[in-house]
Amino acid sequence: MSDIYIYSERLDIAAELIGFARQNHKEPYVVTFSAVAAEELANLGANKVFYLKGESPLVENYAKQISKFLKEQAASHFMVGATARGRDLAARVAGYMDCGMASDLSGLTYVDDELICERIIYGGAVRQKEAFKDFCVVTVPGGLFEPVQGDCEIFTIDLKADERVVLVERTEIPSRGNDLPTASKVVCVGLGLAEEEDLSLVNGLVDVLEGEIACTRGIAEERHWLPVERYIGISGAVIKPELYIALGVSGQIQHVYGIRESKIIVAIDKNDKAPIFRYADYGIVGDMYEIIPLLTDLLN
Ligand SMILES: Cc1cc2nc3c(=O)[nH]c(=O)nc-3n(C[C@H](O)[C@H](O)[C@H](O)COP(=O)(O)OP(=O)(O)OC[C@H]3O[C@@H](n4cnc5c(N)ncnc54)[C@H](O)[C@@H]3O)c2cc1C
Repeated sequence: MSDIYIYSERLDIAAELIGFARQNHKEPYVVTFSAVAAEELANLGANKVFYLKGESPLVENYAKQISKFLKEQAASHFMVGATARGRDLAARVAGYMDCGMASDLSGLTYVDDELICERIIYGGAVRQKEAFKDFCVVTVPGGLFEPVQGDCEIFTIDLKADERVVLVERTEIPSRGNDLPTASKVVCVGLGLAEEEDLSLVNGLVDVLEGEIACTRGIAEERHWLPVERYIGISGAVIKPELYIALGVSGQIQHVYGIRESKIIVAIDKNDKAPIFRYADYGIVGDMYEIIPLLTDLLN
């Protein structure tokens, strides 16, 4: 039992899962529903890429067929990128396969042939480990493993979609390009920001660093000052930049979960007891409204 099947519409996560399989001496196979994605995935070190070709644009409509396919292939595990669509597909596949499932893992490893899945639960209060001996489905966020490279063949398989879910309408949500998952420098703003207009101050620092702006959950979900895909943490994005700067971010565990793999963490907060300083490599205690312009000028 060593064939890992991987699906992620985010190709960076698929690449990392292939890397995970390789590092653990397992055989990675990738499934995709896109011919274009198949071409890219074929350079990422998998054994094979299966392009599953069907009529429906909705991935979840293939859950039953994928389950059949995984059984035929005698897959040992199905690893899915923890995106909204990936989570949906994973749950359906686990249902059809009548198997165990662990979602949104914070760690994943093999001990002998057991898959050990680590998850943070109860809003960050508890770290839980689950061991799977048999086939299981897991969803994995980005930023946990190193990708590898290597070419492989693409196999096209025709699949008949289940048509119970139909696409009624597609409306695009306007948003600035989001390169957060792969950005090397990230400036994150928290509820220490008093006014929405003050984002221009933060964007000034982001621009001189040529980085990306991010935020805590409250800035996106309560104040709606930045799009939800910009917030970092256990229920948001997990990032791994070279440099992460926190501005007015207290550093609660649910947020820190998403930044703990950052190479250098810099925190600016007026409260010297803010938990973020426990995780920071460099800390400045002070008013960010005074410090941001100084930093921006210095770096300009
Ligand atoms: C189940 C669950 C899941 C969650 N998931 C997430 C998640 O994924 N991501 C996430 O971010 N949160 C998440 N949260 C919320 C999380 O617990 C915290 O409430 C949140 O991260 C706090 O955001 P914050 O640091 O911006 O705000 P606060 O905790 O209010 O901190 C604001 C900070 O700004 C400082 N400050 C104020 N004014 C200034 C100034 N002028 N200059 C400098 N510093 C200043 C303050 O001293 C303070 O430290 C979750 C919570 C739960 C219960």
